[in-house]
Amino acid sequence: MITTDFSTVFPSEQLDDPLCPLCGRFQRLPQQLHFPPFAVVRCAHCQLWYLAPRLLESAMLQAYANPEYFAGGGEHGYAHSQGSYVAQAEALQRTFQQFLHNLQQRGLTGGSLLEIGAGYGYLLQQARPYFNQLSGTDFDAVAVENIRQQGFQAFLGGIEALPTQARYEVIVATGVIEHIYQPVDFVNKVRKHLTASGWLILATPQINGFWFWLQGKRWSSFKIPEHVTYYDRHTLNRLYQQCGCLETRFIPYPAAYPLGLIGEKLGVRLPAFLTQYSLWLPATMFALAARFSDAAD
Ligand SMILES: [Zn+2]
Repeated sequence: MITTDFSTVFPSEQLDDPLCPLCGRFQRLPQQLHFPPFAVVRCAHCQLWYLAPRLLESAMLQAYANPEYFAGGGEHGYAHSQGSYVAQAEALQRTFQQFLHNLQQRGLTGGSLLEIGAGYGYLLQQARPYFNQLSGTDFDAVAVENIRQQGFQAFLGGIEALPTQARYEVIVATGVIEHIYQPVDFVNKVRKHLTASGWLILATPQINGFWFWLQGKRWSSFKIPEHVTYYDRHTLNRLYQQCGCLETRFIPYPAAYPLGLIGEKLGVRLPAFLTQYSLWLPATMFALAARFSDAAD
């Protein structure tokens, strides 16, 4: 269920009305989607969809630290699903398995991998056959301890938690960039941890795709107020270009979703036995890989 009025939850002094987080301009296209007191607007210059007004970043960080705000959180909008946790975990593992296969097909595996926002390590687990060295970061101390116990190197925090000299052949972040308030700063910080031939791969919900045009305001990736930017391949490509990118590659990202969650989105309560199954949906998300001109050594 999409809640569309947050006015009582978030007072106006906790809001700001930002310039476009990608190109820094103010002009917006007339089409806007309203989730009072928030709105998703589109930059008239670079076409990025972004949240404006949005929650102040300081207030957002406080909300993330308070589990009562976003109980269950998590990637791909699985929060509050009627499907079981196991079904969700299996769907995620299958999604990552397919994603890694797609990376391998494009020559984007091998060497060392860093995952930003590694959660409970579902992607890292599936990545074992494809990389020699596997590391992850996460802001959640319980998640970090969990992935350490699985034998992965783990850092508590964001990109700042990495040792200055740490370099990786591949850095991947799924379901992260849409939460980032200053995406250009973020990519510039991350690319400093790539080897000279290294690739950054961001996967994110795909706005302007089939599901968005079908569902409009009910699009399931409108996670308000956590998602502050919404990309398609053009705007994500533009983000990379602003950070000195040499080359990008589009990577399909079909995602498996538990049937219980899909039923919930459609307003249908499914029999319990069905909720253990999942279904592949194309183009809910996409990934774009980028190589940069000034990656260190
Ligand atoms: Zn813009």
